[in-house]
Amino acid sequence: MLKDYDVAVVGGGLLGSAIAWGLGRLGKKVVVLDEGDIAKRASRANFALVWVQSKGLGMPAYTGWTMRASETWGRLAAELKDQTGLDVALQQNGGFHLTLGENEFAQRAQLVTRMHNQVGAADYRMEMLSASEVKKMLPLIGPEVSGGSFCPWDGHVNSLRTFRAFHTGLKLFGIEYFPERPVSAIARRGGEFQLSTAQGEIHAGKVVLSAGNANQSLAPMVGLSAPMGPTRGQIVVTERTMPFLPHPLTTIRQTDEGTVMIGDSKEDQLDDRTLNHAVSAVMADRAQRTFPHLARLNVVRTWSGIRVMPQDGFPIYDQSESAPGAFVTCCHSGVTLASNHAFEIARMVAAGALEPELVGAFSARRFDANHAATGSGYY
Ligand SMILES: Cc1cc2nc3c(=O)[nH]c(=O)nc-3n(C[C@H](O)[C@H](O)[C@H](O)COP(=O)(O)OP(=O)(O)OC[C@H]3O[C@@H](n4cnc5c(N)ncnc54)[C@H](O)[C@@H]3O)c2cc1C
Repeated sequence: MLKDYDVAVVGGGLLGSAIAWGLGRLGKKVVVLDEGDIAKRASRANFALVWVQSKGLGMPAYTGWTMRASETWGRLAAELKDQTGLDVALQQNGGFHLTLGENEFAQRAQLVTRMHNQVGAADYRMEMLSASEVKKMLPLIGPEVSGGSFCPWDGHVNSLRTFRAFHTGLKLFGIEYFPERPVSAIARRGGEFQLSTAQGEIHAGKVVLSAGNANQSLAPMVGLSAPMGPTRGQIVVTERTMPFLPHPLTTIRQTDEGTVMIGDSKEDQLDDRTLNHAVSAVMADRAQRTFPHLARLNVVRTWSGIRVMPQDGFPIYDQSESAPGAFVTCCHSGVTLASNHAFEIARMVAAGALEPELVGAFSARRFDANHAATGSGYY
């Protein structure tokens, strides 16, 4: 039977869109099937950092993979702009994690030391700065700020515009995007994949599962696994104000439109997107202790979103042995890693196999009790 598509991507969030865009860029015939634009989806609710600092404690391969994404994000932004005319407002001049009080400073300093001591962290640049050093770069910090860590690789982007740019690009590449088309079953027969949807079957030579937390139930259909759980995060947004923040922070950033985003909380195992106002209050309080002038701004929006969170917090990239041509991808930093998904993962899927170093580090087999970790640190 003729295959309808070279690749079917299940999930049209940031991961699926980036990978499908990357495949389109390589001339592949691709279809993207999405369950629907439900507000809690992480791709529509995130904080939009392109972030390196403190990523990969306990898994050096993840530090390298994140640094690689940071290095190639500029190329992604430029290609998206060339193709679609959309400027995703990437800014990569370094970012801070600021601390309030001496205890927080000491804890952060310990984390920086642990990151530096980790094997394979040779090029990792993250340093502690005193309050007076921070003040030279961020003059409006308040008296409670005790200092913080700075990493020159860090940055941020307009992530909703990035999402739109990917989707505009998909159209320009001739990729078909079907919203409201959840995949309910996947089978491999006669060398192709058959994906069942309420509107009929889709046939493809390869399948990429990028369905966020739904990967957990889809992956076993193609002999894979994706152990994960939902984590709720909340964001508060203020009215527009004068430019005052030349670098993003882990919890505060000024958008290219002038608003201030305050985030991002983490509540484990919560798949309910009801706002917890007590959490918003703590976030807003810390923000105004960090920058006292924020107390004068009105809050205009707040929301919660559900993170895609593999069980150990590190990405899962895997390929099926029993159903060759099936891949699963999920991670909790889909903005940061978008360039890797668009360039690296798409290239490997097009070639038919993930590179051994990638699978060695990020396969879900690491959750198997009998599996000895084989991460080479290549990335
Ligand atoms: C509050 C918050 C802050 C964040 N901040 C950052 C940040 O600063 N930087 C960063 O890098 N990342 C951040 N993230 C994480 C980032 O947003 C996610 O890693 C990324 O959006 C995950 O994208 P995804 O495509 O895997 O998942 P999703 O956005 O959940 O998309 C999955 C898609 O799969 C579809 N789907 C589900 N089931 C099916 C099915 N059966 N068939 C077809 N389609 C299906 C859904 O409709 C959905 O569109 C944040 C997330 C949150 C919630």
